[in-house]
Amino acid sequence: MNSQLSLLVQLQQLDLKLHDLEEQRKQIPERLQAAEFSVEQAQKREKELQASLSTIAAERRSSEQDLNVHESHVHKMRERLNEVKTNREYQAHLFEIELANKKKDALEEKVLMAMERAEEKQRELDGVQKHLQEMTHVLEKERAEIESLSAKLTHDATQVDQQKNILFPSLEKRAYDRYSTLKLSLKLVVIAPVSGGICQGCQLQIPPQLVASVKRADQLLTCPYCHRILYDEESLKEALSS
Ligand SMILES: [Zn+2]
Repeated sequence: MNSQLSLLVQLQQLDLKLHDLEEQRKQIPERLQAAEFSVEQAQKREKELQASLSTIAAERRSSEQDLNVHESHVHKMRERLNEVKTNREYQAHLFEIELANKKKDALEEKVLMAMERAEEKQRELDGVQKHLQEMTHVLEKERAEIESLSAKLTHDATQVDQQKNILFPSLEKRAYDRYSTLKLSLKLVVIAPVSGGICQGCQLQIPPQLVASVKRADQLLTCPYCHRILYDEESLKEALSS
């Protein structure tokens, strides 16, 4: 096999590896963002719940104060009941006490409601804090994993670069320039195997004469449709094993 062709195939494999490493690196911020978002959401909910718990506590204190004031008022009214002279006055006073008792019930109800609401919010807060703790743990683990993944990706990329550097001295400038120009227009895959008479780059059937020439592998040939440099996998295996 043409040595340049086999070098180009190897170069492409290394470039594909680099591309894959780069793609993995691009996914890192996304992975972190998902975990960070969960933690931020939980922290936000925690703050909201803490704020509404203190509002409810303030409301409850104020209702309890109202209730105290009202209870002493009712107490005084009961004491005065003994001082009224006429039956009519007595009935009117009883009616007022009844009204005052109703108001007292309403205030007590308010205090109870506040207690219930506080319990409910506290339960939710406990759940959110438990979740937050778990998510913080997940985030820390994710950060550590990503740090080691990032180090591994850098290490692997350096290795691939070194492998590329080993290829370069044997690669002729003309072949490399052709590869680089094609890479600019075709992006990733510049060199395609021919399998069953079909270019694996564009999946089109290529002329039998060209297929035969690709098998001989003594020069750089391109697909007439997608312009990728073509190679025969069997010839490449032979070239790499010899
Ligand atoms: Zn093609």
